[in-house]
Amino acid sequence: MSADAEEELQGILSQVHAQCAADTRGEVASYIPELSLASPDDFGLALATVSGRIFTAGETETPFTIQSVSKAFTYCLANELLGPDEVMRHVGVEPSGDAFNSIEFDPTTARPFNPMVNAGAITVAGLLYSELGEGAFDFILERFSRAAGRTLDMDDAVYRSECETGHRNRAIAHLLKGTGVLGGPVDEVVDLYFRQCSIRVTAADLAWMSVTLANLGVQPRTDDTVFDLMAVRDTQSVMYSCGMYNYSGNWGFRVGIPAKSGVGGGLAGVVNRQLGVAAYSPRLDAKGNTVRGVAAFELLAEELGLHAFCCTKLGSSIVERFLR
Ligand code: GLU
Repeated sequence: MSADAEEELQGILSQVHAQCAADTRGEVASYIPELSLASPDDFGLALATVSGRIFTAGETETPFTIQSVSKAFTYCLANELLGPDEVMRHVGVEPSGDAFNSIEFDPTTARPFNPMVNAGAITVAGLLYSELGEGAFDFILERFSRAAGRTLDMDDAVYRSECETGHRNRAIAHLLKGTGVLGGPVDEVVDLYFRQCSIRVTAADLAWMSVTLANLGVQPRTDDTVFDLMAVRDTQSVMYSCGMYNYSGNWGFRVGIPAKSGVGGGLAGVVNRQLGVAAYSPRLDAKGNTVRGVAAFELLAEELGLHAFCCTKLGSSIVERFLR
């Protein structure tokens, strides 16, 4: 990348950061005490390229828990381990239009609608547990770490609180067990789900994890093949249609980037074959998405032509402009 292109990209990122930092709408998640301790003003934006560079603005090294962003990556791993047909037998790919923790299942198959709502993600955790047993969490953590390009860990306090308060998730798991959709023992599977949600990341980590998907499964800085190629395609598809809670339709329309958000304030977006984009800002809107993160993605998509169906020349030329 030429020095001019680097400067231009950094300039756009910094400007979008400054513009969105002024937005103080939304509330920090408070369903467990640990999340409410997040600094509401923290705000980081990170953009990693398939050529192995990262651009950052603001708090991109501040740790937070990955929460629902993990769902995209565990779905990817389940597809790799079990194959798409077996995964599809347990969880669909249809946007639900319901809140992330809703207790709704496909009326004809009893499957969760998709892997990005809790019911679907718990089902995916069940598939991973059935396949890997006690080793499932270490497997997840190791793959997430390789995608991030550094060793990640789990936030014990968040994990303990999730366990203590996660009655609704436990109820969902029991219902899924009752209909035969959930593999594995309920307590162990829910425990695995709480652990995956409690993995600690930074915005920079999420940008690297996302660009690993964008780069067809290969971490571009370490050259490590982390995810299976076909699983990456399936993952991006579901992120596109279901990744932003019950804002997913609007998101696909306005931003047009496969993405996944979490109640910790993280947001990870995949611009296929080009970029991983991530935001961290803990103030959430009514649907559970980071307010500044959503605003920043809208601006970046516009500025850089990132929408999947962008019809200006800019959209298809981002690689040429910045990445070579
Ligand atoms: N641990 C949270 C739950 O399952 C994750 C929620 C989220 O990020 O959407 O309730």
